[in-house]
Parts: sequence; structure tokens; C-alpha cells
Amino acid sequence: MASDADVPADSAPHQELYPARVVLTTYPSQHGIDPIPLRWGAKTPAERGPVVVSRQQDSLGKRNAIGAGGGSYCIYRALAVAIGALGPNHRPDFRLTEPTNVIGPHPGWTDPEKIVSLDPWGHAIVEHYGDYIDRGIDVRPTIAITKAHIKLAEIDEAIRKGILACDGDIVTADGELKVVKVASEPVWHLPGVAKRFGITEATLRRALFEDTGGMYPELITRPDLKVFLPPIGGLTVYIFGDPAHIPDPTKRLTMRVHDECNGSDVFGSDICTCKPYLTYSIEECAREAQNGGVGVVVYFRKEGRALGEVTKYLVYNARKRQEGGDTAANYFKRTEFVAGVKDMRFQALMPDILHWLGVTRIDRFISMSNMKYQAIVESGIEVVERISIPEDRMPADSKVEIEAKIADGYFTTGAVPTADDLLNVKGRNWDEVAH
Ligand SMILES: [Zn+2]
Repeated sequence: MASDADVPADSAPHQELYPARVVLTTYPSQHGIDPIPLRWGAKTPAERGPVVVSRQQDSLGKRNAIGAGGGSYCIYRALAVAIGALGPNHRPDFRLTEPTNVIGPHPGWTDPEKIVSLDPWGHAIVEHYGDYIDRGIDVRPTIAITKAHIKLAEIDEAIRKGILACDGDIVTADGELKVVKVASEPVWHLPGVAKRFGITEATLRRALFEDTGGMYPELITRPDLKVFLPPIGGLTVYIFGDPAHIPDPTKRLTMRVHDECNGSDVFGSDICTCKPYLTYSIEECAREAQNGGVGVVVYFRKEGRALGEVTKYLVYNARKRQEGGDTAANYFKRTEFVAGVKDMRFQALMPDILHWLGVTRIDRFISMSNMKYQAIVESGIEVVERISIPEDRMPADSKVEIEAKIADGYFTTGAVPTADDLLNVKGRNWDEVAH
């Protein structure tokens, strides 16, 4: 097996980094192309086979997936190799990296249609595919499971107010929350993804090829390869309480599925309700675990409704500058003017992680999103109660977003505003934002 030492640490010419002949793409009938069988949804990990996406020399012909490992970070890996900081044939040392907690296997893991956007065996590749690794095949994990303590100002505040107790188990005496965390990178079974969206696999492949700048020609030349590792962000799961309680029908489950909002989640921007929703969910999940149930927060890297922060800020500007100011009436329209759509999160793939966790029923679903709710229910999971954030936790400038969402059909237990009402729900003026 090659090691980092094979490549000079300084700037190696690319002829020494890679074979001189560039393999632009491969074809099913090509000499030396003999992919390891991959049977999505097979009954055992051995029958399913490992996902191999590496283009390292030992693995190129055995590859059974298109794309690159590591989600969006594959580009940084390329940079590291290009500047000589990482050997192109580096192989991870997996010693001591195994999961801290056992999760699954659950029924969805062997159902080819329940999970189509992650590898259900992605956390256990050493356990199930160690023999392939020993034979020189570059198999990489796409899921990792660990444990941690987390501490948040909002949780400290809840403890101070007496609405959350330090029980010494779920919440430590110092106000830290004990969690099990799962990180997952995307692994798409293209026929399953296409079916989920009601389109053909050929259309999906062509769109992925075109809109990544022709980045993955094998989407077109290798119809025999059905799995694609897209260069996008993944997700993180925070579990409060015992993960074994998640599939247990006698235990209550509180859950939030949260889509990334860096401006609010990390920096506390008050134009939306993202961070208050997130911290309220964490508090409710901790409480559910203290009551003998379990809480789960899933955090998806789908910044700004998966439109990205640049689009999001352009929309903020347009909202504040439009005639009549920032009103709930024009909230979605402004996004559509810039992005062409009001939302690109398309929740159809989201329930996969819930099936991976073994979720069959959510007792308390903390979200006002109908798209999330419908995707979950349509995937066969029961939602008992939907919970929206208490009014007193909403930031002042977020009213525009909330009222617009309710009028657009998002879940509420309160009144649905009329068109006239929406014109009167206004955000801060532009000059009040300037600083
Ligand atoms: Zn937000």
C-alpha cells in the first residue's frame, strides 16, 4: 500500500502525482473495468457490497460509484494533493475510529426504496468491508458516530429560569447536554433518487452532468454505475438520550429537522426564526430524554433553502429596498425573482436519515414546514403532534418570514393571515438595518 512518503512534501510535478495518461471517463465494456457488485438494498452488507468511488490506481477499475468521497470537501482534498500536502495514494488509518454507539441495523437499511441518499452501512465499513480494504480497495466511511457534551447560552438561560433541570444524566450539573452525534455524507442511489422525485434516471443524470459543469462524465458514460456521491454538504444528527429508544414504540420521540442558516444559527441574525427554533428544539429534546423518551435534531447543510448565502443576501437586499418595504406579502416573490424558485430544499430525500435511525413514529415534531411534514408522513412515519415555536421566542424582525410562511400554507395552530394582513406585516426599514 502506498503512503504519503511516496510523494515529495514540496511541490511535486503533476506527472509524479498522477499517471501521465489522464483517464477522462470510463465505459462499461472497457478493458480493466470490472466494478465490485453493488446491490442497493440487499439483505446483508456482504450481499450489498462496499461503495467504492476512489480513482486511486488499485480501485479505478473496481469502482462502483460515480463522483467523489467527502461531499463538498473533495475539492479541498484535491487542493491538498495538488500542493503536495497530501499524497494522492493516501489511505486512512481507521484504527480506534469505530462508532461509540450501536445504531441499527433497522428495516430501512435493507429496503432499496426507503433509503436512497445515504449509505446505511457507511459507518461500519471496517466491520463489513475490512477484507476489501486489506486487498487494497479504497473503501471509505460516509457516516461517523461519536459522543460529546454541548453547552449553549440558551440552555443555560432555560436552566436559570427553571424550565430545564440539571438531572446529572441528560443535562450535567454544569448545564452541559450529553449527546450522541452522527455525521453523514451523501451517497445517492440514482434510480431511487429519480423515483423519489418522479423523474427518469436519464433526466436526473443529464441534469447532474450539465449543472456541475460536466464534472462527472460517467453520469453519462456509465449507466451501469447506479450510485453517485455528489459534491454537496451532508447532515449531522444530535441524539439526546439513548439512541436505542428511537425505534422503540414504547418510548416517546421529539424531533426537529433543521436546515442550515448560518446567519441565524451561528451569528444570531434576527431576520428569521432559525436559531430560536434550533435552541427551542434542543431544549425540548433534552426534556423528552429526561422524561424517559429520546430527542433527535437533524441538521442539514442546505443553507438559505439550499439556494446558498449569496442568493439569500441578494434577497434580503431586495426585500428591504422594494417599494412599500419588507412585507410578508412579497416575501416569497422576492426569492423567486432572484433564484427562479422559492425553495430548493426539496424535502423528498430528507426522511432517509429518519429511516436510518429507525424512526417509525414522531410524537412531537417541532416544525411549521408542511413540506417536511408531508415528506416524513409520505415515507411511512407517523407524526402525532406538530409543535411550532412559542410566540415569545420569535425575534422581532422575523415576523415577515413567519406570517408569509403561514399564509403560504405552513403549519400553524393560530390564525392564517389574509392578503391585507400580509401587507401590514413589515420588517425593519433599510435605514434601521444600516450600521
Ligand atoms: Zn434563518
